[in-house]
Amino acid sequence: MPLDVEKIRRDFPILGRAVRGKPLVYLDNAATTQKPRQVVELLAHFYGLHNANIHRGVHTLSGEATKLVDRARGKIARFINAPKPQTIVFTRNTTEAINLVARAWGERCLKAGDEILLTDIEHHSNLVPWQMLAQRAGAKLCFVESEPDGTLSAETARRHFTARTRIFAFTALSNALGSVSPVGPLAALAREYGALSLVDGAQWVPHRPTDVQALGCDFLAFSAHKMFGPTGVGVLYGREDLLEAMDPFLGGGDMISEVWLDRATYNELPYKFEAGTPDIGGIIAFGAAVDYLAAIGFEDIGRHERLLSERLLDILRCEAEVAVYGPRRIEDRGGVVSFNVGDVHPHDVGQIFDAEGVAIRVGHHCCQPLMRKLNIPGTARASVYAYNTLPELEAFAKALRKAKEFFRVTSAR
Ligand code: PMP
Repeated sequence: MPLDVEKIRRDFPILGRAVRGKPLVYLDNAATTQKPRQVVELLAHFYGLHNANIHRGVHTLSGEATKLVDRARGKIARFINAPKPQTIVFTRNTTEAINLVARAWGERCLKAGDEILLTDIEHHSNLVPWQMLAQRAGAKLCFVESEPDGTLSAETARRHFTARTRIFAFTALSNALGSVSPVGPLAALAREYGALSLVDGAQWVPHRPTDVQALGCDFLAFSAHKMFGPTGVGVLYGREDLLEAMDPFLGGGDMISEVWLDRATYNELPYKFEAGTPDIGGIIAFGAAVDYLAAIGFEDIGRHERLLSERLLDILRCEAEVAVYGPRRIEDRGGVVSFNVGDVHPHDVGQIFDAEGVAIRVGHHCCQPLMRKLNIPGTARASVYAYNTLPELEAFAKALRKAKEFFRVTSAR
């Protein structure tokens, strides 16, 4: 069934806004998505009628808040087919989820000379935590080079595994190039070599059906704010036996079982990794975001995003002097399209788009090593979601032509 995009759009008041006197065209979904009223209303409802801290209170409101958080955890576990809700750890975002593993698993399990395998297309949040760990542990960082079209190949990755490889951390979908990774085969490769796999699912989980058991990954990190949920909430899914064996990440309230002046024992999963008061309202509202996504369904979302991505690629490829990055084949792409207009700096391109009411992202997209490899300062990036429309892409095309005219980018340049 085609998506009822107009119905979806009615849930997002912000999409009816004007920007710089033009209707807003929001194409910065890879950075963060807009929030449907169901999510915003649930936040207001929680703070208006149920607000209390969780776990420690015997009073009714605290019990209600605790139940609502437990219910959200259950929904998110089902959403990614995690075997148990306890394997869902709430963090602030993807970045914190990856740092949690780098600290709590890495410091206990990594020895000098061990290898951490990454790729050259990673977001800084799946790179810098491992650099910090490697420095502390005396471990070595190794990198799988992406293919010329920006995809990752299991064959190429295989060449980088050694007997010392302990973990392979890779993105499921590149936020800079839009390339989709063969997640299952890459996770299987790690298993074959006795290493763990960590999947950066920040761009994948919002757009594709995710089944952690079928994918066979050991850890998966993602953020609520890129999937209709609020900022301030992320998820680390981890295999239960691994989480059990890991040390806590942060110390404080809630993560303990018993505390003496000089020592403590730790709580059971997942609370061992959830020190302090979490973003209670945000977690509950994330549950509503997951319900909202599930009600639309990934089959329809996927089909719609593909239609939009094809049109975006057509628009860009028809224009002379416009470079498009990432895979040629639509099958290898998500709804993220990176481009440059002649040799105009992407920031300047972005300003012309903004004057047309079109919100795109520009810069290095937290992938500086990849930009260095491509020998560019950055890119302009359009990224779509379920509420975007084909007419909006015509506004994008108009802004692109304006940018070319303004900077006099022609084939004769
Ligand atoms: N990984 C990827 C692939 C991303 O696109 C992002 C967000 N741009 C992150 C990690 C980090 O997400 P967050 O800022 O929510 O921690």
